[in-house]
Amino acid sequence: MKLWERNVRKVVPYTPGEQPQDGQMIKLNTNENPYPPAPGVEKALRGLSAEQMRLYPDPKAKILVEALAEYYGLKEEQVFVGVGSDDVLAMCFLTFFNSEKPILFPDITYSFYDVWAELFRIPYRRPLLNDAFQIQAEDYFGENGGIIFPNPNAPTGEVLSLEKIEEILKHNRDVVVIVDEAYVDFGAKSALPLTEKYDNLLVVQTFSKSRSMAGMRIGFAMGNPDLIRCLNEVKYSFNSYTMDRTALISGAEAIRDREYFEKTTAKIVETREWAKEQLRRLGFTFGDSQANFLFITHRDCEASGLYEALRKAHIYVRYFSSPRIDNYLRVTIGTREEMETLIAFLGNYLSEKKKG
Ligand code: PMP
Repeated sequence: MKLWERNVRKVVPYTPGEQPQDGQMIKLNTNENPYPPAPGVEKALRGLSAEQMRLYPDPKAKILVEALAEYYGLKEEQVFVGVGSDDVLAMCFLTFFNSEKPILFPDITYSFYDVWAELFRIPYRRPLLNDAFQIQAEDYFGENGGIIFPNPNAPTGEVLSLEKIEEILKHNRDVVVIVDEAYVDFGAKSALPLTEKYDNLLVVQTFSKSRSMAGMRIGFAMGNPDLIRCLNEVKYSFNSYTMDRTALISGAEAIRDREYFEKTTAKIVETREWAKEQLRRLGFTFGDSQANFLFITHRDCEASGLYEALRKAHIYVRYFSSPRIDNYLRVTIGTREEMETLIAFLGNYLSEKKKG
């Protein structure tokens, strides 16, 4: 070992979902939206010129913050924006989780949480989901250094009711509680209204899923102005120009088009419910996901083998080889046509398996 290596901050990094570049595939592995962004985004991009790149972007990200505040009926001081919700969440970990007591998040959840906790040396504990992969609110009532969970949870799609979230808040007045709502627009209820009553609640959302803009990297947090001020202080101590001009302009444009957003999310919900029926017919089991993905298992076939077979057929889904979930596949909801191809493949695969 070289001597300097002793001083290196070592981390086991997060593994992002694969982004194959071959084009010819059905991509159901990273919960992207199968539909394009709102039409106004394309127009906004055409209006950009290289000359505008000469100047730094607005560090306050005003046009985007303003558009979000207007859409959600908030004051601008209640909105924080970042480079995807990963950036916003990383800032949240750095800002709010600074206690000697462990923060809490579920054993099965977004696999970036433990990576940030390790990176920033935040102690953590992971209460177990129950056998139906649901969060047990009581597990979050004891002393802790802060709480974070996605709602709907990932990769399960399971929803925690607002009543249960409020119970968690009632037991945790002295720490920051973060609800990661990356998938909330596909049928779950947002905890945003609870931010009026609980000044320690922060709601984080993203443009990557319901707004079809994973490639642009826009995320945001909403909550009490004091929380947002703390986040901004850390942001300005790290990188003040996080959002580039293109992201600011196209994000503001996307958020204004409520009708397009409602139409595309409704289509995804409809396809999801159709896919549930088809998968049930084929003998798959899964929870009642309210996200844009399903977390499926089948008693007659191993998830890892099925994952490989799907890959060979150029259908990409996500497989996690972690305890408790290593016989499941997470399947993003694509277009109806993509899901039909998937279902047909699964039908054939299972009947071949039965024969063989
Ligand atoms: N939270 C959860 C629960 C997610 O699944 C994801 C997607 N990987 C994110 C946050 C981050 O998404 P993004 O950085 O694209 O906003």
